[in-house]
Amino acid sequence: MSKMFVDVRRCIGCHACSVACKTEHSVPLGEFRTRVRWLPEPGDGRMTFLPLFAETCDLGVNRAQHGLAPACVTACPTKALELVDEAPAESRPLERKGDTRDGVVYRGHARWQEDAMNAGVALSPEDPDPIYEQW
Ligand code: SF4
Repeated sequence: MSKMFVDVRRCIGCHACSVACKTEHSVPLGEFRTRVRWLPEPGDGRMTFLPLFAETCDLGVNRAQHGLAPACVTACPTKALELVDEAPAESRPLERKGDTRDGVVYRGHARWQEDAMNAGVALSPEDPDPIYEQW
């Protein structure tokens, strides 16, 4: 079964994947199948990014029927996303279930990023992700 492979070190947080997904699937305003969390690294505050995929994500099954990669993969300017048959070496699912759908594996992310999402770092308590308010 295909998996979405996310090379976190390549992600620049541009949200092109989120926009492509919304366009491809006509996802209504305020709903998302793909989101990208911006997470400041503890200490130096360097921004890091973690793409997440909702349970409603079908890994681009319709496009696959036409020999095309998922819209998010095609849109990503840094090739941080790839649809693969086998999980690449050193990749693993997120440890916290529920943050992203099954069948997504990550490489290069840190546990603190998952913990930061849990603690709401960079996100206000009222709005889990203000940047998405406008979409
Ligand atoms: S399009 Fe690629 S680089 Fe941009 S946020 Fe998505 S995964 Fe990251």
